[in-house]
Amino acid sequence: MTTLLYQTEPYLAEFTARVLERTDGGVRLDRMAFFPGAGGQPADTGAVTGQAGTAEVTGFRRDDDGIAVLLDGPQPGEGEQVRCALDWDRRYALMRTHTSLHLLAGVVGRDYGGVILSRSMQPLRGRVDFELAAADAVSGESFGDRLEEALRREIAAARPVSVSFLPPEEFLSRPDLIRTKTNQVPAGLDRIRVVEIVGLDRQADGGTHVASTREVAALRVTANQSRGMGKRRLRIELDRVAPPRPRADALAR
Ligand SMILES: [Zn+2]
Repeated sequence: MTTLLYQTEPYLAEFTARVLERTDGGVRLDRMAFFPGAGGQPADTGAVTGQAGTAEVTGFRRDDDGIAVLLDGPQPGEGEQVRCALDWDRRYALMRTHTSLHLLAGVVGRDYGGVILSRSMQPLRGRVDFELAAADAVSGESFGDRLEEALRREIAAARPVSVSFLPPEEFLSRPDLIRTKTNQVPAGLDRIRVVEIVGLDRQADGGTHVASTREVAALRVTANQSRGMGKRRLRIELDRVAPPRPRADALAR
């Protein structure tokens, strides 16, 4: 099995790993910081360097044995130690975008009683469909402005973003901050990865996030459309900011 480093170390962008086995078109690693894509967050891009040279990461494949990293270029051999790097600029943009969507869920839930139906994201762009308890509260042009202002306040508040692993019953015992329509807890798991914007939003989530809402930095609400029956679609955009220096694990040189 692959240890998923991104779950606890989202700022890790360079790492070493060992090839557990070669698979069709790629390799399975003993550990990886690559995010393989899930929950609306696109998969990382990056590179894997072994003795034969550097191969580009083109995607990931999940199967019963775990996750394979798909490669284009020289393939490392089984048992080989490889150096890996993910495209940090893109990943950091996705971390900010993903956190901003949780921020949006938190503000829309707290201020308007909205729950999230679905969402998607690309680097620096996101879309959220949500359902509102009081749909008339958000009609009119000022809604987008008011929302943007509330989001700016939460960014300035530098709320910590925490990750924890909880038994499902414990996660569900505190529904106060859950902003999604369905509880999104798959059956049969003995622990749930929970991402919390402290005091604002709490979700079962597999993605990568920035450590503080302050890092979301500049954000705009670019569209606010009715989807009928109390449903709205919001689009947001973030400005690019220079990412902080990524972390490299001690073994990666
Ligand atoms: Zn999420």
